[in-house]
Amino acid sequence: MLFLKPKRFKVVDSTQKIAKEMAAKNCPQGLIIVADRQKESYGRLGRSWSAGVGGLWFSFVLRPKISLQKILVIAPLIAIALNKAIKKSFKISSKIKWPNDILIERKKVAGILVEASSRGRKVDWLVIGIGVNVNNRLPNFLQQTAATLKQVCGKNVSKEVLLESFAREFDLCYKKFLKVGFSSFVNFYNKNLSFYNREVIVFTDDLSQAGINKGIAKTGKLVLKMPQGIKRVSAGTLRLAD
Ligand code: ATP
Repeated sequence: MLFLKPKRFKVVDSTQKIAKEMAAKNCPQGLIIVADRQKESYGRLGRSWSAGVGGLWFSFVLRPKISLQKILVIAPLIAIALNKAIKKSFKISSKIKWPNDILIERKKVAGILVEASSRGRKVDWLVIGIGVNVNNRLPNFLQQTAATLKQVCGKNVSKEVLLESFAREFDLCYKKFLKVGFSSFVNFYNKNLSFYNREVIVFTDDLSQAGINKGIAKTGKLVLKMPQGIKRVSAGTLRLAD
């Protein structure tokens, strides 16, 4: 099994911060930090993430022997495992939103963050942060865009069942990825993708690009079909065009 016994905390600033400090001090792959509550948790681009009591908040360390360029496939790999774990544990229908969210009926139930450090052109460590809204209360400003598994299932559900299920699913995905590469995951990912074949806009730093969402390619990049041709996008924030 990839994962070590979780190190559990009641409250932390950020599980991601702790895991990154430990990764920088050469901790082994599979180290996992779980907290009941985070005071300063963050998502992509330093955006703040609400992580109150009742949610599943954790970060873990990977040390794959891959080149930096392959990092793009890690978030999809995690999304596949997390989406499977949510579906199987609670028999509900969730979807992946490129690049790093899990949605249920268009509302965000989970977010994934991948941070990396390199040695030359190789990955030294990856720290993956995962936040899942389970039984936590969402602040008012997120009520329209986010949901909890408790809201979806109509009752409290188990964070532990979900964590164990994710650990099993990701263990399988990761081993297969290290053995045969990412190509064999692409179809499955795209079948579970929200807004597939829909007109979307992808916002990057200084650009917004509209096109038809054709899912990801085997590089992990999103394929956008635009009037002027096919465009492949590495990162960005995706919104439905209508
Ligand atoms: P998005 O595409 O959803 O706008 P993102 O993928 O660019 O966000 P993330 O790192 O996934 O960014 O998450 C940060 C954003 O998620 C915040 O800006 C906030 O809008 C939203 N958010 C914060 N906490 C939660 C939460 N517990 N559940 C769902 N959404 C949240």
